[in-house]
Amino acid sequence: MAATKLHVLDCGSMSCDLTWLLLKPGRSIRSRQEREIPAEWYPCTTHCVLVETDDGLLLWDTSCPRDWETRWAPTGLHDFFPYDRVTEEQYLDARLGQLGVAPENLRYVVFSHLHFDHAGNAKMFGSTGAQLVVNDKEKEFAFGFDGLFTGAHLKSDYDGLDFQTVSGDTELLPGVTLIEAPGHTPGTMSMKVDLSETGSMIFTSDAIYMGDSYGPPATPAAIVNDLGAWYASVEKIRGLAEKTNSQVIFGHDADQLWSMRRSPDGFYS
Ligand SMILES: [Zn+2]
Repeated sequence: MAATKLHVLDCGSMSCDLTWLLLKPGRSIRSRQEREIPAEWYPCTTHCVLVETDDGLLLWDTSCPRDWETRWAPTGLHDFFPYDRVTEEQYLDARLGQLGVAPENLRYVVFSHLHFDHAGNAKMFGSTGAQLVVNDKEKEFAFGFDGLFTGAHLKSDYDGLDFQTVSGDTELLPGVTLIEAPGHTPGTMSMKVDLSETGSMIFTSDAIYMGDSYGPPATPAAIVNDLGAWYASVEKIRGLAEKTNSQVIFGHDADQLWSMRRSPDGFYS
């Protein structure tokens, strides 16, 4: 097995109205008895994953940038998803540093998709020699629209970078499989990592935001590019998780992230 160690990098949280993440009556959507209760704001946690493999270090996603407030301002979303629950040691560069890892040490940087809370530090790896990997449909969409941004795709995060693309489900390295899971965006991917002691872990990224989204039944969210594809991807992941007895780690589930072994205090092997 080629993936030997896996580090979960907790990069703090954005804050947002829970309704963005979960359209669920009784939780984010109010009944008449609850109509006076303010919207619930949620710690929208953001994480990256560092995988040690026989072929070098692989980073899954790059979280949010330090200059989020100015960088995201053109989109208006800085007021809806402020990255304001983060400490100095939680920024991605600090998290890597705590493990003695510099950007130059990474062999692969894989992007679940190119939204600004996943590609926010992509340019940290622009000239380090790392292979930047993204799904082909995601690249086509992210470079294909007119203007500087659409939704949470912000071209300044990733323009000028040289991406390698994968299509369909792809075993990128022995023990590391990228799973095509569109719906949230046209080319969202999840990642399955097989470890000798822990077994398999599936990092869904935004294919599935939280445990409440997974259900069953699956519960959608406010930002979905293609709702039919989203439902199919959730069930695809559920089927794969059951077949491979995998743990499923969601993209923005605070309670789950905070219950995990997090770097630098712990890791999975
Ligand atoms: Zn996200």
